[in-house]
Amino acid sequence: MQIVIPKDVLWILRKLNEAGYEAYVVGGCVRDSLLGREPHDWDITTDAEPLQVKALFKRTVDTGLQHGTVTVLNHGVGYEVTTYRLDGDYSDHRRPESVTFSRQLSDDLMRRDFTINAMAYHPEKGLVDLYGGEKDLAEKRIRAVGVPDERFNEDALRILRAVRFAAQLGFVIEPETRDAIRAHVKELSHVSIERIETELTKLICSPHPEEMEELYQLGITAEILPEFDRMMETEQNTPYHCMDVGHHTIAVMKGVSRDKILRYAALFHDIGKPECKTTDEEGQDHFKGHPAVGEKMAREIMKRLRLDNKTIDEASLLVYWHDFGVKGDLTEKSFRKGVSKMGLRHFPAYLELRKADMHGQSDYEWEKKVEGYQRIQEMYERLLEEKPALTVRELAVNGGDLKKAGIPAGPEMGRMLEHLLQYVLEDPERNTKEELLAEAGRKDIFG
Ligand code: ATP
Ligand code: MG
Repeated sequence: MQIVIPKDVLWILRKLNEAGYEAYVVGGCVRDSLLGREPHDWDITTDAEPLQVKALFKRTVDTGLQHGTVTVLNHGVGYEVTTYRLDGDYSDHRRPESVTFSRQLSDDLMRRDFTINAMAYHPEKGLVDLYGGEKDLAEKRIRAVGVPDERFNEDALRILRAVRFAAQLGFVIEPETRDAIRAHVKELSHVSIERIETELTKLICSPHPEEMEELYQLGITAEILPEFDRMMETEQNTPYHCMDVGHHTIAVMKGVSRDKILRYAALFHDIGKPECKTTDEEGQDHFKGHPAVGEKMAREIMKRLRLDNKTIDEASLLVYWHDFGVKGDLTEKSFRKGVSKMGLRHFPAYLELRKADMHGQSDYEWEKKVEGYQRIQEMYERLLEEKPALTVRELAVNGGDLKKAGIPAGPEMGRMLEHLLQYVLEDPERNTKEELLAEAGRKDIFG
């Protein structure tokens, strides 16, 4: 099997070879190339030590000298060049006490997590595959290198990585590896939340977010996202649903595009349901108020996971609004008011979530639901055409106009502008300077 290596990477390999060192591309780039996917970065492994690597290249960054990693810059792109490495004892389930540089490629491959990630390639020497990685790729299998039990004991993050790769590649975790995951799942508590977030986000944004079920089955969510387990354990006895909250959630995740904000919004859209569940005399379940409760929970959980603020803000906003218009009773007026509060720019994401949510429910009153959805979509399209004012900035008067009309600057001014916006949301025709100045004159903002 031939791998096409980019010119700039070949240049680095050659330069190391010409200086008398071994050098291979390794890990993710070899795996992805063999799968016919474009690698997103090319890592190089070599027997040269960091200072020797630095001496060969003009532009380098000391990425992690103690761990053997130097980044070589070539045409503005960074390539990580790492010295063959043997990891010392792991005593805390997350990082080796020491690393030793080695002269043997085999040592370096041995320390890697999964067989599909433990292959190296050299343009003349070809593939080095000591653990059957190529076969596991062909048979779509995630298998730990060496003794699975030891590998998860060393670094518990590998537990989450196994499921992440299964989700990204559509692979299955091999039984012995799976058993070892179960045995070590508690040790995830030793792993930093930042490393967990990286892997979890990759899984959530992957082509197979249904691997969330695998996280649950293996006891992983119990450690890192127990709120998800509550959803898996919450039945929904209502004609609108045909699944428990957790399985419905997974269906909705699958139904939205692979966008971080939408996927997290889908994951958390019903997170408030377990807490809000009530059962009436007929045995039917209700989840009144779950979007607002869910928004708070989603925010807390995403903060705990140290997600970035944009994801936290926008995903929890979508959680809050996900049932907007669900009752099918929106008028043009209440629609405008809702969109004004939600923020027009969030509307496309809301629509996408709403559609996926609908498809993840039962067929009960299906036509009515589709009609309701289409009505909202039409109202949105009309709104884009007619462009009614939805924010204070779009009003026909501004602070300056109101000041001239005798409204003092300060909090009163803010209140007046907000009042005028509500006045205009009632009827967009009112958005003229005369009309708004007249309303400002009528309104007693001190009252
Ligand atoms: P991606 O395409 O997501 O970057 P990757 O395979 O390159 O996937 P990285 O996290 O970038 O994954 O790691 C690069 C390589 O380093 C892996 O292919 C694997 O060989 C090794 N590796 C990374 N993390 C670990 C770990 N926790 N334990 C053992 N080996 C690891
Ligand atoms: Mg990588």
